[in-house]
Amino acid sequence: MADVILQNVQKRFGSVEVIPDLSLYIPDGSFTVLVGPSGCGKSTLLRMIAGLETVSSGAISIGGEDVTHAEPDKRGIAMVFQSYALYPHMTVRQNIGFALRLAKRPKQEIRDRVEEAADILQLGPLLDRKPRQLSGGQRQRVAIGRAIVRNPKVFLFDEPLSNLDAALRTQMRVELAELHDRLDATMIYVTHDQVEAMTMADQIVIMRSGVVQQVGEPMDLYKRPENPFVAGFIGSPRMNLIEGDVADQRRARMVGVRPEHISMSFEEGEWHGKVRHAEHLGSDTVAYVDADGIGPVTIRLTGEVPITAGTSVWMTPEAGNLHLFRADGTVERV
Ligand code: ADP
Ligand code: MG
Repeated sequence: MADVILQNVQKRFGSVEVIPDLSLYIPDGSFTVLVGPSGCGKSTLLRMIAGLETVSSGAISIGGEDVTHAEPDKRGIAMVFQSYALYPHMTVRQNIGFALRLAKRPKQEIRDRVEEAADILQLGPLLDRKPRQLSGGQRQRVAIGRAIVRNPKVFLFDEPLSNLDAALRTQMRVELAELHDRLDATMIYVTHDQVEAMTMADQIVIMRSGVVQQVGEPMDLYKRPENPFVAGFIGSPRMNLIEGDVADQRRARMVGVRPEHISMSFEEGEWHGKVRHAEHLGSDTVAYVDADGIGPVTIRLTGEVPITAGTSVWMTPEAGNLHLFRADGTVERV
């Protein structure tokens, strides 16, 4: 049992308040992703859970134990950073086993645990190499191996894939999700990338300026964003958030509709506009339209659609997929 509970956690650096007051429940065995724009306090929060940063006030418990003032190595956590921070003069085997050697574990046990981790991460053939003889993805795997051998109750990841190229990031996303299934441990993963959050999390926590905006399963956040910030943050291309007449008619501060929830016709529809720019991706076509009396509207159409800059189009938002963000903070979906 290793759930993580944050109770009224606050963090100030001098006079700068980074986390005003944050409470959060991270279930045992979950893959929880903390996501939000750069500078919103994700790393600070993770480092407070790890014990690398003190809390200004509030309490943190891991597996039912109050660890608010415990040393990092007494918390049962292991952390993986964006910079792999491997020891360059050590082999892969020595890097992975370092924490166990430090803890003076028996040689045979170290050997077994390093090999088990290497096996999980497909690093077996690389155990005698030095970090400089590895690719970026392999180095990141070694860093994860170092965490695995410690058999932590909670894994903490801080943007571990940000230094990898796009193809490798996609592959590592799948591997991390599989690792989570296999190890059955609680994982807390920080990223600014909503795609990573959507693809790996069973619980997403969206943060902005140190404040939790919404907590939920990925599809929950996609279908039922509670405010325009969440609506605009989750999903790509981002949700259209329309003010002005369209919002006034529906007595909303803002009307949100996702690009994939607007149908297009050359003959008729609710809104008229001219395509400003179109992206032909093969699998779908994304068009940026200047809509009459509304402004910019992004639409996403399945497959290849023959439209280019200047094409006149009609657009109709799908019933059931409009999000009306009211002035009083409530949301209605129609
Ligand atoms: P994120 O990981 O979401 O990008 P951080 O947690 O790194 O954000 O930082 C949140 C805010 O706290 C930023 O404004 C950053 O400048 C500030 N901050 C982080 N660490 C320190 C520090 N040691 N001293 C002062 N300010 C800091
Ligand atoms: Mg960070």
